[in-house]
Amino acid sequence: MLADRAERARTRMAELGVDALLLSVGPDLPYLTGYSAMPLERLTMLVLPRDGEATLVVPRLEAPRVTERPDVFTLRPWDETDDPVAIVAGLAGGAATLGVGDHTWARFLLDLQAALPAARFTKASTVLGPLRAVKDKPEVEALRRAAEAVDRIAAHLQAGDIPLVGRTEADVSADLGRRIVAEGHQHVNFAIVAGGENAASPHHEAGERVIRPGDVVLCDYGGTMLDADGVGYCSDITRCVHVGEPPAEVAEAYAVLHEAQRAAAAAATVGTPCEAVDATARRIIADAGYGDRFIHRTGHGIGVEAHEDPYIVEGNATPLAPGHAFSIEPGIYVPGRFGLRLEDIVVAAEGGLDELNRVDHGLAVVGG
Ligand code: ZN
Ligand code: ZN
Ligand code: ZN
Repeated sequence: MLADRAERARTRMAELGVDALLLSVGPDLPYLTGYSAMPLERLTMLVLPRDGEATLVVPRLEAPRVTERPDVFTLRPWDETDDPVAIVAGLAGGAATLGVGDHTWARFLLDLQAALPAARFTKASTVLGPLRAVKDKPEVEALRRAAEAVDRIAAHLQAGDIPLVGRTEADVSADLGRRIVAEGHQHVNFAIVAGGENAASPHHEAGERVIRPGDVVLCDYGGTMLDADGVGYCSDITRCVHVGEPPAEVAEAYAVLHEAQRAAAAAATVGTPCEAVDATARRIIADAGYGDRFIHRTGHGIGVEAHEDPYIVEGNATPLAPGHAFSIEPGIYVPGRFGLRLEDIVVAAEGGLDELNRVDHGLAVVGG
């Protein structure tokens, strides 16, 4: 599977005229090798030539962490007194055009540019972005396992099994984080918990506000779960619950949001432009009078990164292709009062949308 990915990358490198990829920290490296570089001052870099063997240059003390995959790369550990930039420059030697991982630290790129003055540098994402956006079957299954794990947490939330009233947002956020790990994720990426008026800020940082009866509680959380190759895939879900029966204002807005989210999912067929999915959700919310309350795009791609291509946003005419995995997450935010968002991860497929999150979409009423 990893070897197939490297081959797909080489094919696209040939199309784009990229002679070698240089990948360091960030998701491209594990995507191709199963190995994640530590964000250290010591350079780790995969040199993947279009023609020829790939080499993973790593600090010697990190080498024991590497699972060797001779079909994908050979390992080239460097010692404390070696110059890793010179080693990479030597391996990349004759390349005229180099694709550098987007997350590579400037200090390494600047040194590489000085060591290879004749080379042209471009972003590796031009090669790997479209490849990573289209998930193969094992990737979809990895995303599904992660989605099922966060669904189980959401089901507990909706059933009232996770205490809310009297706890701070930060405390509930930490609780969600523990559950994300307990459900099989390797780490937590985020756990937004926003009570009442705080939910009007889409990326609210969970704080000291205590959750009380009458609050809507918006929970948006996810983590990274490792597959058999050690490559991490992300989960991301948003559900809102209401402590006690919601007032009409909230219930009505939620009904609009729910309709918009379901309509966007229905519109997300193969061949439909990403922006049309966004427009579907936005039209319903705008027609109900909340147009200026939906202040972000409808969704983002997801895979080894929590946010990646394709973005479900006006201006992105990319047609959905089988294997595109992304979120559908419209929101309605009323400053000073409340906020609502409903988010699922889905995968475009010829036979109809593959919805990875299956937990109930309603605004669950929990004890209060
Ligand atoms: Zn989310
Ligand atoms: Zn999201
Ligand atoms: Zn529903």
